[in-house]
Amino acid sequence: MMDETPHQHKTYHRNKTVTVMFLILLVFAVLMGRLVYLMVFRSEYYTMRAKQLHERERSIKAARGRIIDAGGKILADNKTVCTISVIHSQIEDQEKVIAVLCKELGLSEEYVRKRVEKYSSIEKIKSNVDKSVGDAIRAYDLAGVKVDEDYKRYYPYDSLGSKVLGFTGGDNQGIIGLEVIYEEYLQGEAGTILTVTDAKGVEVAEAGEERVEPVEGKDLYISMDMNIQSYATQLALQTMETKQADSVSILVMNPQNGEILAMVNVPEFNLNDPYTLPDGVGGDGLSEEKKQELLNGMWRNGCINDTYEPGSTFKIITAAAGLESGSVKPTDTFNCPGYIMVEDRRIRCHKVGGHGTEDFVQGTMNSCKQKVM
Ligand SMILES: [Zn+2]
Repeated sequence: MMDETPHQHKTYHRNKTVTVMFLILLVFAVLMGRLVYLMVFRSEYYTMRAKQLHERERSIKAARGRIIDAGGKILADNKTVCTISVIHSQIEDQEKVIAVLCKELGLSEEYVRKRVEKYSSIEKIKSNVDKSVGDAIRAYDLAGVKVDEDYKRYYPYDSLGSKVLGFTGGDNQGIIGLEVIYEEYLQGEAGTILTVTDAKGVEVAEAGEERVEPVEGKDLYISMDMNIQSYATQLALQTMETKQADSVSILVMNPQNGEILAMVNVPEFNLNDPYTLPDGVGGDGLSEEKKQELLNGMWRNGCINDTYEPGSTFKIITAAAGLESGSVKPTDTFNCPGYIMVEDRRIRCHKVGGHGTEDFVQGTMNSCKQKVM
């Protein structure tokens, strides 16, 4: 009995030591595993996160190409505006920054605070800000607030040729019309300013800044002539008034080469304010979907999007071609039975019984569906 107790005690001690050793090893194994995971498997992710924090990239917007008419008038131009951003780590007086930005930009405190308090390398507050407002903000000389100049699309003739030219969105990208179709040429290439910062987000002076200059977009020269477009627009508006029409379209083309000199679709809309529906359209309780539908209707270019049966408007061309080629003479006689068969279709004359025998002049006057006798 006496011998057994110390022996038992020893075994108990040894067991305890083994358990503790095992636990320590286990903890080390877990830590090693975590380290391998972070260093091997997540290395790319953390490198990227660190780079994002240490290299701050600001883009320099490129001036968009202008749209110029046949007479050299500028139909779509750029005006200088500002983009306001904040750099969280450089802000010294956070409350003052929030107060100034709310006041000058007319934004809610909640909106500004969320962005100012966000831990990111750079946070955009508002773009397309008038240059005067940008200058006012710059005058406060607040640490951490950046005012970058960029460009906004501007249409000197407001609504003239609106559905042809189209307009651009918040990032200066084309939304409809020529602005979309020639986006690739008009947009240019944005430049960048790259600065390296330390862990606190302060720019490292020795690292310098890398600057890639923006490339301006190319100008677009079009066949439309703003003088002809203006006259055609006035005519279309008059016609819409006298005929009480919903819309009137006029297309003026150079028959020698097919160049479009004017393309009018009244009512036009203001390119400098393309998201405002005309008076009396819509109302307050409009759903987003319904509003977009109405906007799409307002922007629609009927001249190229709607089909129109040539019918009587085209008979002048076929009749003139017939006369010019000598296929018909004004004195040729025809018989109108009240219809004509074209393939398997029976196209009726407006006079049910037919006009009977008549010459080319009478047939043209009556819009007859007639056959050469
Ligand atoms: Zn007839």
